[in-house]
Amino acid sequence: MKFIQYNISDSIKKSLAEQGFVKPTDIQYRAIPSILKGEDVMAIAQTGTGKTGAFAIPLVHKLLVSHEILERGQVRCLVMVPTRELAVQITGVFEKLATYTPLRIVSTFGGVDQKPQTDQLLRGADVLISTPGRMFDLRSQGFLDLSMVEVLVLDEADLMLDMGFIRDIRDVLRHIPRRHQTLFFSATINEEIKDLAYSIVRNPIRIQISPKDRVSKNVDHQVAFIEMDDKRFFLERMIKQNPEQRFLVFVRTKVRAERVFAAMKRVGIDSLTMHGDKAQEDRLDVMEKFRASQVRVLVATDVSARGIDIPGVQFVVNYDLPDEAENYVHRVGRTGRGMEKGVAISFCSPEEKKTLDEIQTFLGKPILELAIDKELYEMTLAMTEEPNTNWRKLIADAEAEMGKKRKKKGKK
Ligand code: AMP
Repeated sequence: MKFIQYNISDSIKKSLAEQGFVKPTDIQYRAIPSILKGEDVMAIAQTGTGKTGAFAIPLVHKLLVSHEILERGQVRCLVMVPTRELAVQITGVFEKLATYTPLRIVSTFGGVDQKPQTDQLLRGADVLISTPGRMFDLRSQGFLDLSMVEVLVLDEADLMLDMGFIRDIRDVLRHIPRRHQTLFFSATINEEIKDLAYSIVRNPIRIQISPKDRVSKNVDHQVAFIEMDDKRFFLERMIKQNPEQRFLVFVRTKVRAERVFAAMKRVGIDSLTMHGDKAQEDRLDVMEKFRASQVRVLVATDVSARGIDIPGVQFVVNYDLPDEAENYVHRVGRTGRGMEKGVAISFCSPEEKKTLDEIQTFLGKPILELAIDKELYEMTLAMTEEPNTNWRKLIADAEAEMGKKRKKKGKK
């Protein structure tokens, strides 16, 4: 079934067509009818599956057909998200879908001046996308009125729990009307998530997307065995061999992120870093530059990049393997989004083999090995443009030369 056959407003169809969205993704196909009917939904789906559209498309339609003039601070649909980046991203999706509608989409999150946000709230919001902290702040200051909320969406609920927002989730329920629709989205499922979900949804429609295959079929993911100290040369080579493509490079810590940034700089590759130490403005600026392809390499830590959707990232590189096996799935899910194809390569050093085993156990199958023979390995080191390591090139050249001579001798 195509979007044009759906019973949704033409103005939404127009926006979907402009974005090149013709058919719903799996989760959209399953969630849209229930949400339109007003049912509660509990969905287990990772980012990359089209889950934002799965709730945004029907919600924009519903809010549109029952359009109301809002007063100061009033909100009709509240989307709670764990991170600012996710707030920005989801706001973008709603804004696009609502382009040809009079709906007001507003987002609020901490770390930036609140004045522009309170200005926006003056005329109310059909949809408010917010992180918990700023939302409660604004409410206690009287800028936000949650007494009209008809729909509550919890996105990335598992990350909300990890980040300690459980009380905020429960608190918000005290401020919104008892009768409301709840849409609960989580990338993973465990007992804690189930308990939370069932305490806030009513007879929900349950949707689970590809529970068996944790990594999307669109992602070709492989592991390469590389010494810790040599990883930068392989990254350099990959980036230089793919001059048009975008790379999202994951590292374990912020110190590592800055180190990779510096190493790439030494070899003439521009990159951006994203980690918990960055000020909010810098983070938004980084995301903007990467989205706009001004810089095509982004080096990030796990939490900072979780849930982020940047279309057109062709390569995810696990420069360091993730400590938590589950994060492997989140990381490689940054590529191959929607209907796109992507490649994810993990650099595994001998020290990380144990972590690799854990990831494979979690996935329930081995990750394909990207075979690198000795010659290719040496060549990669020799190809670097890093000034201090030209000796490697000299040695490699010398060895190659000797190899040739030996061969000649052998023939004689
Ligand atoms: P999400 O899982 O919401 O982060 O979405 C992942 C990606 O899929 C985004 O880049 C969307 O623009 C894209 N997408 C969402 N819905 C569709 C669709 N129906 N057809 C094609 N791409 C889509």
